[in-house]
Amino acid sequence: MVSQRDGAIEGVDRSDMGRYRILILGGTTEARHLAELLAERPEFETTISLAGRTEAPKPLPVPTRIGGFGGASGLADYLVEQKIDLMIDATHPFANQISANAAKAAQASGVPVFALCRPGWVRQAYDRWISVGSVAAAVIALGQAPRRVFLSIGRQEAHRFSTAPQHSYLVRSVDPVEPPLKLPDCRYILATGPFTAEGETDLFRFNRIDTLVTKNSGGLATYGKIEAARALGLAVIMIERQVPPGIRTVHDAEAALELVDHLLSPAK
Ligand code: NAP
Repeated sequence: MVSQRDGAIEGVDRSDMGRYRILILGGTTEARHLAELLAERPEFETTISLAGRTEAPKPLPVPTRIGGFGGASGLADYLVEQKIDLMIDATHPFANQISANAAKAAQASGVPVFALCRPGWVRQAYDRWISVGSVAAAVIALGQAPRRVFLSIGRQEAHRFSTAPQHSYLVRSVDPVEPPLKLPDCRYILATGPFTAEGETDLFRFNRIDTLVTKNSGGLATYGKIEAARALGLAVIMIERQVPPGIRTVHDAEAALELVDHLLSPAK
């Protein structure tokens, strides 16, 4: 992996100007998969960008830059300075700010963009979902009566549940929630998926969980908790996605590669 925080990319052969330059906005399994596919294609010079939230990101097969761009205008400047030919927004479906920035920067710079975003989960028979539009609404949806909550929304917005101290919480995240939540009954698990339905069922049973709070992230890696909640008849507070900016969207890395091939002709 070649990476540099908050700066120019090192290790990229700038002498080869005949190749198409692709920027992937990453941070997801789908972005990683697409990077793996593009790394096999010598006609493309691919860079992946990470926000830098994860303390020890797994190595990637293409040059990596880490850190914000400085808003939509900073991203637009980067696209122009780095002579990017195509940007792919493969960020998490709940990373709303960077997706909005990508749409604006594409418009300002004239660099084409499309999104790679996995579809959301769809409610099945026996699911007991309460769908809400935000993390703040999820806190309210828990209600006043004490619950035993499994909180699986990532660490960044977990602090919002500090306003509902009547519940007992088990919080799972990839990196530690810092600072810890100001709650009388809160325990933490650090873990990275994928998670199986069997494992999640055992976890929920052992901890006597009665309510799952999750984002509708989609994908298979974390679907086990949804299956486990269904099997155990648990309530699920499902935080739904915001409507994405109106840019073309594909749902998996293979479809993204097809679109890259369509948008970028073989010879530059
Ligand atoms: P966000 O709220 O949409 O973005 C906040 C700021 O972080 C952006 O304005 C941008 O800073 C910077 N940023 C975000 N993604 C970036 C990227 N790929 N490369 C460079 N800068 C980036 O994002 P978030 O929800 O904090 O998510 C951050 C990262 O974690 C994303 O890469 C996302 O794919 C991943 N992720 C998010 C979630 C989630 O639930 N939100 C879950 C799993 C993974 P500047 O304005 O300075 O450019």
